[in-house]
Amino acid sequence: MKAAIYPGSFDPVTFGHLDIIHRAADIFDELYVSVLNNSSKTSLFSIDERVNMLKEVTADLPNVHIETFSGLTLQYALDKDVHVLIRGLRAVTDFEYELQIAQTNRKFSDDKVDTMFLTTSLEYAYLSSSIVKEIASYGGDISMSVPQAVADRVYEKYGIIK
Ligand code: ADP
Repeated sequence: MKAAIYPGSFDPVTFGHLDIIHRAADIFDELYVSVLNNSSKTSLFSIDERVNMLKEVTADLPNVHIETFSGLTLQYALDKDVHVLIRGLRAVTDFEYELQIAQTNRKFSDDKVDTMFLTTSLEYAYLSSSIVKEIASYGGDISMSVPQAVADRVYEKYGIIK
């Protein structure tokens, strides 16, 4: 059985994340979408809210499992005995940062943990959770960027009635 972990903040999950989830779930037998519980990073949604949204939008994918973790992604992967991390690449700016993290994870796991990059689908290349929050906070339309159930929750956070 081949398994992989797709770690991230998912604050909130977007169509860009979902695209990567679908593609990775096609390649691997089991995919763990793992939400980082990072107290030093301020998030719009609580960890439970992020998990619930992810569960809702991946309910049709039986080999996708939503989990949370804290601390180092590398340690979490080693503890689970899952040795592939999935990351999405949008632009060169993602690449520089991701390359360093991937090399660090490989080095500090004695070459056990590798990172697999999936490049963004072109229609989502511009998309990030931050952009979604920014647009929604001004009452803009985010229906092309996140599933409807997620959009409703984002507007609710900003007290916007749609
Ligand atoms: P993090 O805070 O770890 O970057 P994110 O939730 O922002 O968490 O992103 C998780 C992963 O999903 C990252 O690898 C990021 O590059 C990728 N990702 C985010 N948006 C997109 C997108 N539109 N297309 C492809 N990959 C994406």
